[in-house]
Amino acid sequence: MRIEIINTGDELLRGALADTNAVYMARRLYELGFRTGRFVTIGDDLRVLTEALTAAFSECDLVLVSGGLGPTDDDLTAAAAAAAAGVKLVRSAEAEKIVRGAFVRGGWEMHPVNLKQADVPEGCRVLDNSNGTAPGFALRAKRAEAFFLPGPPRELKPMFEAHVVPSLPAPPARHVAAFRLHGMGESDVQARLAPYAAAHPELVFGFRATFPEIGLRVVAE
Ligand code: AMP
Ligand code: MG
Repeated sequence: MRIEIINTGDELLRGALADTNAVYMARRLYELGFRTGRFVTIGDDLRVLTEALTAAFSECDLVLVSGGLGPTDDDLTAAAAAAAAGVKLVRSAEAEKIVRGAFVRGGWEMHPVNLKQADVPEGCRVLDNSNGTAPGFALRAKRAEAFFLPGPPRELKPMFEAHVVPSLPAPPARHVAAFRLHGMGESDVQARLAPYAAAHPELVFGFRATFPEIGLRVVAE
């Protein structure tokens, strides 16, 4: 199963914000038995985001997108998703109910620009967000099942657990052997492992050197 995580926002590319959403989703997927193939980070740029989504929809089975679902002009994710999936952006009554409900719950007045958050790709499934004003959405496009989640981690995490996790298929079986090696350099270990690696292409060897120790993980899926 090919999985790609796409995170959007100029603040990520300026280095002003650490991409903890990618880390969270990849760690949870790994715990659940899935390996993420690629992280992609895109600024607030409709063309670049549309290109990234178009490629991901045809190359991946699962695409997870975070950010860019807010009400401002730099929030472009829904428009890019619609363009990449080849559908229209439409006002969703269901999404509008979620947006209006969030303002009622918070006791805030809703500005009309917030209704932009109710514009979603035609035919998508709208995903409830009980911690913020932006609904998420999910859609099937080409090869992929794609989920679009809001950027704030306190909104993203519960939505990932509620909507993405239950949709996952049974994971491939995974066996892990972990070693802590002392007294050898990385290149030594690599040289000694080379014959095993050549004989067992199904194994993935992962090194993590933290002097004076080398961590070695051998993973079979
Ligand atoms: P956005 O939905 O893109 O408007 O993002 C709203 C806020 O969510 C940002 O200002 C950040 O505080 C936070 N955020 C967005 N993307 C990420 C990310 N990849 N990792 C951590 N926090 C994020
Ligand atoms: Mg943003």
